Amino acid sequence: MSSVTLDHVHKRFGQAKGVEDVHIHIETGEFFTFLGPSGCGKTTTLRMIAGFYYPTEGHIRFGSQEVTSLPPHKRNTGMVFQNYALFPHMTVFENIAFGLQVRKVNKTDAKERVERIMKLVRLEGYGERRIDQLSGGQQQRVALARALVIEPQILLLDEPLSNLDAKLREETRFEIKRLQLELGITTIYVTHDQAEAMSMSDRIMVMQSGEVQQIGTPHEIYHRPVNRFVASFIGETNLWEGTVTGFDGDEVLVRTASGQMLSGFKKNASPRAQLSVGEKVTMSIRPESVLESTGNEGQNVVTGSVVMSEFTGACVNYVTQVGTESLRSMSINLGRPIKQRGDAIGLHIPKESIYFAG
Ligand code: ATP
Repeated sequence: MSSVTLDHVHKRFGQAKGVEDVHIHIETGEFFTFLGPSGCGKTTTLRMIAGFYYPTEGHIRFGSQEVTSLPPHKRNTGMVFQNYALFPHMTVFENIAFGLQVRKVNKTDAKERVERIMKLVRLEGYGERRIDQLSGGQQQRVALARALVIEPQILLLDEPLSNLDAKLREETRFEIKRLQLELGITTIYVTHDQAEAMSMSDRIMVMQSGEVQQIGTPHEIYHRPVNRFVASFIGETNLWEGTVTGFDGDEVLVRTASGQMLSGFKKNASPRAQLSVGEKVTMSIRPESVLESTGNEGQNVVTGSVVMSEFTGACVNYVTQVGTESLRSMSINLGRPIKQRGDAIGLHIPKESIYFAG
């Protein structure tokens, strides 16, 4: 097991930018995810760690070992690809044993190791099956077993769930997390799916256009997004523009674009937010923190007209027009009558739920 350090790593493809100045330290045993939209540089970064690409600038270390220009087979990483890259003409057993054969592990040891790993990924009894006789989920587990059987220092997973249907994705995501916790292996996971990243990771690196936007725990990324991009990429949020009009103790007073007065806490601000009178700020307000007003809150109540209401059983979701702004809310259904399109509604935006994203 090993930590992974990327020390100001850049990758250019000719004149084209791949990734720029990635600087991270991934702890031993950590589950670390690269998250971002297509083309943001996730795979390029992973490939540099695996050794399929070399950085144009910067260094990569596993623990204290410099690996920047080592070829892939000398790095002791196990990789699972999006399309699994299994050998279709070989059996499950042969696929998993392949890496051990290449490393000249003797047959008895290899058999013992393959059987142990098949048990771990719950593929017992499938050894003689051909790959084309397996379901997508089973193929995914073969790919995982093949990566793990070589006992890598680091496990690299590139969108490993994207070929599975929704239900299987969810099951497999728990399965991968279980394995990772059981083995304690340093794992780097690439995905564009924020729910996957949030549910599995110790920390997430959010990327856009080859640049790192934010590194943090799922909680930090969700509740303390550094900018509009991160706030809107991770889950749903309302992004309201406003102007700082004053301060009251530890609170910031803001006039929204449509003239609503709101108050939030100074401490709930990204380092990029400009909190001084007259400055423009972007507020991120999560729908689940907006509550239907009881009429007793005093401050931070806005009124509007319901544009859409949706009853999902457990929740009531509203889209409300508040002046020129739209406000999404999502609250637990407490059995109150559900408002319909055109109805007036009062909504309470608790002070602690306003985050100044910069
Ligand atoms: P996806 O989720 O679609 O795989 P990604 O976030 O993994 O996207 P990368 O594949 O890392 O993104 O690509 C980052 C950028 O580098 C893109 O602009 C891409 O076009 C470019 N790029 C990647 N590989 C090459 C290459 N071999 N030659 C030239 N440009 C490349």
